[in-house]
Formats: sequence, structure tokens, C-alpha cells
Amino acid sequence: MDTRRVYLDNNATTPTDPRVVETMIPFFHSMPGNAASRNHPFGWEAEGAVETAREQIADLINVDPREIIFTSGATESDNLAIKGAFEMYARKGNHIITVKTEHKAVLDACNKVEKLGGQVTYLDVQADGRVSVEDIKAAITDKTIMICVMWANNETGTIQPIEEIGALCREKGILFMCDATQAVGKIPVDPKKIGIHLMAFTSHKMYGPKGVGALFVNRKNPRVKVTAQMDGGGHERGMRSGTLNVPGIVGFGKAAALAKEEMIEEAKRLSELRDYLEASLCEKLEECYVNGSVEHRMPHVANISFKHVEGEGLMMTFNQNIALSSGSACTSASLEPSYVLIAMGLGDDLAHSSLRFSLGRFSTKEDVDYTIEKIANGVNHMRSLSPIWEMYKEGIDLDAVEWSAH
Ligand SMILES: *Cc1c(COP(=O)(O)O)cnc(C)c1O
Repeated sequence: MDTRRVYLDNNATTPTDPRVVETMIPFFHSMPGNAASRNHPFGWEAEGAVETAREQIADLINVDPREIIFTSGATESDNLAIKGAFEMYARKGNHIITVKTEHKAVLDACNKVEKLGGQVTYLDVQADGRVSVEDIKAAITDKTIMICVMWANNETGTIQPIEEIGALCREKGILFMCDATQAVGKIPVDPKKIGIHLMAFTSHKMYGPKGVGALFVNRKNPRVKVTAQMDGGGHERGMRSGTLNVPGIVGFGKAAALAKEEMIEEAKRLSELRDYLEASLCEKLEECYVNGSVEHRMPHVANISFKHVEGEGLMMTFNQNIALSSGSACTSASLEPSYVLIAMGLGDDLAHSSLRFSLGRFSTKEDVDYTIEKIANGVNHMRSLSPIWEMYKEGIDLDAVEWSAH
């Protein structure tokens, strides 16, 4: 039996780097302090370690350590930024502009804002997955307090036109909130240079542990504040109460330091591997479509549709050996096509036939070669069983066939 296991689902979560794990270990037992305990060395030691991590993380994104608020992850950071700014700036306005391809943490927080009396505009994207800055401009009203656009999409790796959005926000005096979870630690991210005021990211997408994240909150020009969503001891400058996850934060800091050191070289290695994966698959297989902008995208992601093959079924041919994601999401009752791909204008069939390959620090050329082989075999096998594929090969125009429902 083939027992090889290949992990190409790094956009869902990354393995924690062993160097990160090593730095965390002492903080579970021999250094057990609470970073808020001010009256003994255990507390001081924990606080010192947290502040070192805060500096490492601030250094990675070129901000002041005082602008980093620790949270439990990007979901919490997105919620704190969106609901917290909505509450804090209620006197200025109640309108938020976002995009249909954002992560659920942003979309659901925006839905909540609407229930609380706010107004949210959800913009479409172009076929390449990018939002049009002209559309954003046209959606601005005198009630607009914030624009929420992610740095890079988790499903396609598509990078949004954030420089232009930053310039627009600056010109109009509107807050720019950015979910940069998929970009931080993988490509250079400098929120101050762009003009981002609130930025969410998380440790477990950059080779740190799960359950710890951060929100960057701009401190000067303008001084931005968000209303706490968690009431308690007033930790993190009053914006996020709760005992800090010291081992997690220490690991997050180490992950940031490693990313700063290795990111550029690693991005080059991964983009070469990714391009090789994509080119090999599209050479071996007909009717292979790459989704999302190929010019503006993350180095490690490929989202590919294999037409006339159902992605979930295809996954079954290899998922004992290879971890990937498909362009379908299981909801309670049915298999829904990815809302991100649908927003880009893909039909249900192409969305359902897509796979997301996300490479990472521990992916090798051997992993990729193995994957190419397995996927090509899987696609050929599925197509060999498919009447639709047979019709396509016979030259029947499938779009002209009238399907009837029985
Ligand atoms: C993973 C992810 C999140 C959620 O992060 P958690 O730390 O798991 O809560 C939010 N936004 C994007 C773009 C993501 O990829």
C-alpha cells in the first residue's frame, strides 16, 4: 500500500516549524508566569518574552510594537477590527465597503454590523479575482467609515490592488482595514507604507502555533482605536482583555523572526515549484484552467479547474496520500461551489471542478512530482468514467445540449 503523505494545504494551516516549537517549550512548565503578574520574576519573565515577541512581529511588518494587539487568531482580529471600528466611529458614519471574496470572518462580521444598524456594500470582483478600485470609489458615501479589502485571497492567492486602495482611503479620510492573513510572513507586508490602519493576521498560517493572532492598529496620523469586544482585565491597551497565551505568542514571535530571515528566498523557491506543478498538470491534461490573476498572486498557491471532473470525487482518488482543498464547501445539506470562484464569474461546473494547491516551507520537489502523477491519473480515471467527457471528446457542444430535469 502507498503510505506516502503529502501536505499541500498550507493555506488552511501550516505545520509549526520545529524551531518555533523549541522556543515555546519552556513557557509551558519551567516559565509558567502570567504576563500580567507584576509582582514576581515568573510574571516579569513572561512579560519580557511577550514583549520580545511583539517586537519580532512588529519588525516583520515594519511597525511600532505598541501597534500590535494580540488575539486568538485572524478570525478574532477581523471581528475586533470591524465591529470595534463600527462601534468606535458610530458618530462619523455607519457604512462599510467590502468585497464578496473576503474570508468568512470578514463577511460574517460585516453581516453582524448590518444587524446592528450598519450598512455594508459587498462589491463584485473582476474575472481575475481583483476588485476594481473605481467600483470602490463609486461606492463611497459621506457615511463611509471603513473599507475592508484583504491583501491576498486564501482560495486563489490573488493579491488585491492594495496600494491604490490605500491611496484612495488616504485621499478620502476613510479607514483601511486589511485581512493580510495569507500574505504576512510570505511576501513583504508594510501596512504603514500602504496606508493600512487595521490589519489582521495569524500565527498558524506562517509556521507558528494555532490559536494566536494579531491586529495591527495604527497609532499615529491618524490615531486609530477600536472598541473592545471582550470585557475583562483591560489587557492589550484596553482593546482585548484576557490572559495572554504566552507560549503561543513566543512561538508567533519566533515564526515572525524566521519569516523575516527566510521569506524572500523561500518565495522564490515556492513560486518555481508552483509554476512547475501548474505547467506539468496543464501539459499532461486537457481542459485545465488556472483560476485567479497569474500576475498578481501569492508565490505558493495554484487554483486549477479540471473541466468535466467533479473536484470532490477527484479528491477521493488521492486524499489518503495528498492533502488539498477543493472548490466546493460542504454546507449542512449540500455541496456548494466556492463563493470566491462564483464571484469571479466561474460557472458551478468549473467551480466544482477546482482544486487548490498551497505549497509551504516543508514542500519538496518530490512531493510535487508525486502530486502531478497522482492528480493526472485521478483526472484521467474520472474522465474515463464520465459520459460528459465522452460527449465532449465526440465534439458535442455541451452548452447547446438541452438538459432536462426529471
Ligand atoms: C485562515 C484565515 C483566517 C482565519 O484565521 P484564524 O487564525 O484561523 O482564525 C482569516 N482570514 C484569512 C484570509 C485566512 O486565510
